[in-house]
Amino acid sequence: MQKKYRAGLMWFRRDLRARDNAALHHALKACKQVFCVFVFDRDILDALPRFDRRVEFIHGSVLSLDAQLQRLGAANGKPQAGLIVVHGHAGDAVPRLADELAVDAVFANHDDEPQSLARDAAVQAALESRGVAFHSFKDHVIFERQEILTLAGKPYTVFTPYKNAWLRKVDGFYLKPYPVERYGAALTAVPDEQRAIPSLAELGFEKTNLSALKIPTGSEGGERLFEEFKGRMANYKVARDFPAVKGPSYLGVHLRFGTMSIRHMAATALSAEQLGSEGAATWLSELIWRDFYAQILSNFPHAVHSAFKPEYDAIKWESGAGADALFLAWCEGRTGYPLVDAAMAQINQTGYMHNRLRMVTASFLVKDLGIDWRRGERYFAEKLNDFDLSANNGGWQWAASTGCDAQPYFRIFNPVSQSEKFDADGSFIRRYVPALAKLPAATIHSPWLAAPLELAAAGVVMGKDYPWPIVQHDEARALTLQRYAVVKKA
Ligand code: FAD
Repeated sequence: MQKKYRAGLMWFRRDLRARDNAALHHALKACKQVFCVFVFDRDILDALPRFDRRVEFIHGSVLSLDAQLQRLGAANGKPQAGLIVVHGHAGDAVPRLADELAVDAVFANHDDEPQSLARDAAVQAALESRGVAFHSFKDHVIFERQEILTLAGKPYTVFTPYKNAWLRKVDGFYLKPYPVERYGAALTAVPDEQRAIPSLAELGFEKTNLSALKIPTGSEGGERLFEEFKGRMANYKVARDFPAVKGPSYLGVHLRFGTMSIRHMAATALSAEQLGSEGAATWLSELIWRDFYAQILSNFPHAVHSAFKPEYDAIKWESGAGADALFLAWCEGRTGYPLVDAAMAQINQTGYMHNRLRMVTASFLVKDLGIDWRRGERYFAEKLNDFDLSANNGGWQWAASTGCDAQPYFRIFNPVSQSEKFDADGSFIRRYVPALAKLPAATIHSPWLAAPLELAAAGVVMGKDYPWPIVQHDEARALTLQRYAVVKKA
């Protein structure tokens, strides 16, 4: 087969796997020789604290990707193949590398976050000024951008009709893997001077508790989690709502950094659904939410900074020192509402938070404390291992009722009844708020109501071992309804 280019460069970003990778597939098919690069982008890294589980996750996954490329090369007679790893500013580093390697084209997968689009536009312009082509592909989602539109030709803004259209459109074509194995002979040797991969310390970062948490990195790690989850998928619909139960897949971080292929996961879920699994159908629905929010971000980028529904920008959030103190108490898990505090301990200690608790804590910040959803969104963005702009923004705007298909503003989670319903025996609270561990299930959800003898028996002194509630839910609820009244008037 005649190849279009003599040499190409595959630029990995949020697609850290060698298997079933759209851009890698196209690069290997189109070029006689393919170099591969990952850039630890200082435009992103320089702003981060020196302990960041995500950087360690990416570092582990980059080492795994290098090994996958070496194996792919070796299996095709190219034992010196592998990954070039650069620590620099991607905007300069990629065009410079394209020059040094004298490639004719650069290949990458789409990244539709506004800053990434701006970076890619700058890189593309720099490449084109040198006569180098830039090709990018859909890889991160099943349907992107404007692939699914309403009959009126508009992007969907309500999930259920979007999901129905998604299910009508999906077929084997959209789910089939992009093979790379048979094209591996196009991989070329990493130049000697570019063989070394910087260590985490050389990147300026320290080890976190990622391995203590047993969060596996790389495609092998993702595969392992997925294999385990397949055994639980049938039960997902029932188990997914209880934070103390191992119900969800914990694959969010692998989907975020592309160590796992979304096509592989969606195809597995769809087949199981077709065999009648309700758990698989529910899980597939969550993967469709992921596509839904990705297309919302792509079609309505104003939502990154403002309410999706502009009339909600009229809401006056609490501000000043009092609000700052409430916000800090929320961040540090000192609200006096045990389920909220346990959830905040989970995100702070592990970088993960169960979906039910993301909804409860987000609702609490916005509708019990009256604090701007963007402050909570930013906090989650700093802490979540699986932080993804589209899903995080979508989740926060859903909880704040400012979003496209959000819960109505008058729906306000009660943090105590949520706790009684979803952590009935208090096991999750006991794990993350050890001060309350000895309280019985009847009082652990609202310890301020416990009798003095019960508190004494559990060794809890309110205000010392555990805080009094920082707001009264009923009063906060009434204030929130007033706060949101401006929307009704708009
Ligand atoms: P599972 O339950 O096993 O779901 C499988 C996958 O489906 C997830 O990994 C994720 O990729 C996708 N998914 C599930 N639910 C959603 C959803 N509601 N929206 C979009 N995708 C979904 N998800 C993120 O991936 N990144 C975020 O930054 C993020 N922030 C959130 C913030 C708030 C306030 C809320 C309410 C939700 C947020 N979510 C986010 C969605 C959801 O909570 C997580 O995807 C999920 O908890 C990750 O755990 P898991 O991998 O075990 O999920």
